[in-house]
Amino acid sequence: MDLSNPNLTAEEQDRLSAITRGLYIGGDWLSSQKGQTIAVIDPATETIIVHVHDATPADGIRAVEAASTAAKRWRQTSPRDRSEILRRCFELMKARLEPLARLISLENGKALGDARSEVSYAAEFFRWNAEEAVRISGEFATAPSGANRIIVDYQPIGICLLITPWNFPAAMATRKIAPALAAGCTVVLKPASETPLTAYALAALFEEAGVPPGVVNVVTTSDPSSLTAAILADPRVRKLSFTGSTGVGRILLGEAAKHVISCSMELGGNAPFIVFDDADLNVALDGAMIAKMRNAGEACTAANRIYVQSGIYDAFAAGLAQRMSALTVGPGLDEATVCGPMITEKAVAKIDRLVEDARRKGAELLCGGARANRKGFYYLPTVLSHVPPNAEMAREEIFGPVAPLSRFEDEDEIIARANDTEYGLSAYVFTRDTVRGMRVAGQIEAGMVALNRGLVSDPAAPFGGVKQSGLGREGGQHHGIAEFMEAKYIATTI
Ligand code: NAP
Repeated sequence: MDLSNPNLTAEEQDRLSAITRGLYIGGDWLSSQKGQTIAVIDPATETIIVHVHDATPADGIRAVEAASTAAKRWRQTSPRDRSEILRRCFELMKARLEPLARLISLENGKALGDARSEVSYAAEFFRWNAEEAVRISGEFATAPSGANRIIVDYQPIGICLLITPWNFPAAMATRKIAPALAAGCTVVLKPASETPLTAYALAALFEEAGVPPGVVNVVTTSDPSSLTAAILADPRVRKLSFTGSTGVGRILLGEAAKHVISCSMELGGNAPFIVFDDADLNVALDGAMIAKMRNAGEACTAANRIYVQSGIYDAFAAGLAQRMSALTVGPGLDEATVCGPMITEKAVAKIDRLVEDARRKGAELLCGGARANRKGFYYLPTVLSHVPPNAEMAREEIFGPVAPLSRFEDEDEIIARANDTEYGLSAYVFTRDTVRGMRVAGQIEAGMVALNRGLVSDPAAPFGGVKQSGLGREGGQHHGIAEFMEAKYIATTI
């Protein structure tokens, strides 16, 4: 195993070897049955950081076995005890914010500032769900006929398979694990193969916080399709919670349908960002920088189509180009970096293809528009003006630091253009007229609308999409935890 990464301190190298000893199953670090490994690449240098174990479908079933063994005791643990364990997870994550942020930055490439924000956000799911765990309540009613009483009890749904993407390796995992554990479920987590280290580091941290063996299991694989098919075919598994692309979500919905497994799907986005003439220019520019450049554009909520009304268009375009070209691009672990590398060479090639396509179709380049001239998967912060509706980037997720601007004239026109997509995750609206803001927010087909702000994510709010952006919600009062529970109705005469 190559642990000689020059970006790491000796202590970090020790921690890395501790969390790459095997698959995390039943509280042990077990070797994969085929004995093979997956290389984890540093996107800033294109070098191998370390290798992790490569699980087979049989390893996946070992993880289900461990989750099943732990399930009986965990669901009977009192809500107060579960809550206190979750609270300790929150506190430990906050105490370990810096090493966790450095690990995220190392394997994902994101700037340390973004990684620190991610750890805080990820930890909040434990604090929030520690509070939710003790507030699960049922219902009690008299049947309309008067013949009996209706008692509804909410029970843990059972063993859950959680599949997460690489763009928020901590937060996408805790947004599922925390409510699942609060509800009394045990889980098998399959993190993205690009960013397995954060998942394993979290598993070790949860163990320290008192999560019993087998309640959380983590398996990494180079063959996600076979592993997840085997796990979903196991009748003990009752829930699939997936965050990732709409394409993979469709495949997994098909796989889960074979076994009639409950699904929660957090999928891709194509967020419109709408700036009306009467918007405060600086507020809109601040919002655009957050909505576009959080995580260097590698976010499902990223502003993917920026629509600006004619009267403010030129000032907005000039201001955005000025701010974007001033950003420091570099390795995520450098404190000065604001825009780190993309996750892979494939991601950079896709961004390049979308920019070239838009330019060929008439978009004007205001800044960037190329890879950075250095080793690593870098793309320069880019602003394109007058992006035509037939550009591929108006339909596909860019997932990079590229801001495509288009002009619009009136409200009805822009609502129709904003809704002209199969996606419906998030949207942004900037106007000083709050009545118009609420009217537009109401008509946009999206699960989440930010009004005069560039950020929607909050553990206390229901996160999720409509149309092909997903099914179900994560976080929020009752929404997130409800995905991991089932109603049990008891008819009684008492
Ligand atoms: P992805 O390619 O769909 O992968 C997501 C996860 O699914 C990874 O763990 C991946 O494993 C696994 N996977 C891939 N193919 C699979 C298959 N056939 N069967 C089972 N599992 C499979 O997505 P990504 O590139 O990691 O993440 C970016 C996407 O996620 C974007 O579309 C983004 O919008 C979306 N996203 C949505 C939200 C939300 O809350 N709505 C949040 C974050 C990201 P491997 O890594 O091994 O391929």
